[in-house]
Amino acid sequence: MESILLLAHTESDGTLAKPALEALAAALAMEGELSVGMVGAAVEPAANQIAGCGAARFLGVSGPAFGQSRYSTDAAAAEALCRASGAAIVIAPSTSRWARALPGVAYRLGGRIDTHVTHVTNLAAGDGTPAVTRWFYRQRMEAVLTRSERPWMVLLDAGCVVPWSAPGPSGAAAVESVAVEAPVTRTTVTGIQAPKADEQTIRPDAKLLFVAGAGWTKKQSDGAVHAAEAEGLILGFLRAAKASLGGSKSLVDLSGEGEAVLRCMTHLNQIGQTGATPRHPKGLSTCCHGEEPHVVGWRFVNQRRAINLDANCGWARGKADVLYVADAFEVMRRVNRLLEAG
Ligand SMILES: Cc1cc2nc3c(=O)[nH]c(=O)nc-3n(C[C@H](O)[C@H](O)[C@H](O)COP(=O)(O)OP(=O)(O)OC[C@H]3O[C@@H](n4cnc5c(N)ncnc54)[C@H](O)[C@@H]3O)c2cc1C
Repeated sequence: MESILLLAHTESDGTLAKPALEALAAALAMEGELSVGMVGAAVEPAANQIAGCGAARFLGVSGPAFGQSRYSTDAAAAEALCRASGAAIVIAPSTSRWARALPGVAYRLGGRIDTHVTHVTNLAAGDGTPAVTRWFYRQRMEAVLTRSERPWMVLLDAGCVVPWSAPGPSGAAAVESVAVEAPVTRTTVTGIQAPKADEQTIRPDAKLLFVAGAGWTKKQSDGAVHAAEAEGLILGFLRAAKASLGGSKSLVDLSGEGEAVLRCMTHLNQIGQTGATPRHPKGLSTCCHGEEPHVVGWRFVNQRRAINLDANCGWARGKADVLYVADAFEVMRRVNRLLEAG
């Protein structure tokens, strides 16, 4: 049994977000004594949020300098918490903040790090050796890895584990403050620029992934392109169904080629081998051919449906549960009318 540290950073309100609670659930499922290390402007709200989780120690690095995401301060705080806990296994959520800082911390500690981990387990057979599961080659192969180097840091991808939730009111946790001299910083965070919530088309927690392909921008049966109507139909559906928007590479690349494009689509929306692999219970593909480099990004979409004019498209070859051979403009016009009426 090896000692475990859950490493978490707080959000701007001082609490822990869902990815941190998922990592906590993963850490609690492991054999070994658990400590929690927290970094933030103030860590008490986070400690109280998880006071009843059963951790043996709560360690904190706090202060104004540690409220912002910044490599130098995050790495210094994480290093100090790892040293103070003496843990052999360090589990952290794969947030952009930790993904940037923790590989350097592993190097400073003489340990190792694995990223994009989907599960942390004790191998069932044998002596309960810790092991991690991750995908390789864009979700085409899954591997279970063990390592002998310690500390072994693990960045857990979001959405793989049910987040921990408090069984009831738990009171306050006693936090041991770990002193860290804030390093000299060259980066000053002056503010955050983010799109308004209703302009945000990438919604990882949505029940449905709606994928638009290049067909939306191609000449239709009347010989004309209908990009403006396509955009209206897609945005109307996203609003009504609260779906997340994905795109094929061909569609997101069009913006770089000066063609009629959907303004709501960026490279961040791209699904596939060179794009994202989101996790949604359902997916609906429209005007997208369903070629392998695209569909490999659908690995974690459980129920797949597609609308395509071509009965021989990729989706028809075992890649979708249901293929509607139909004009997506016509189908989505009717679907949106039904959603508005309903
Ligand atoms: C190394 C490599 C990596 C790649 N990575 C990715 C990746 O990450 N993601 C990705 O998406 N692609 C990727 N690709 C490209 C991929 O192979 C395809 O070229 C791309 O997915 C095609 O996009 P599409 O299906 O939208 O466009 P098209 O192939 O042009 O298909 C358009 C489809 O729209 C249909 N259509 C047109 N009008 C309508 C209508 N009114 N109603 C219904 N259907 C209609 C057509 O029948 C057609 O099937 C990669 C390729 C390579 C070589």
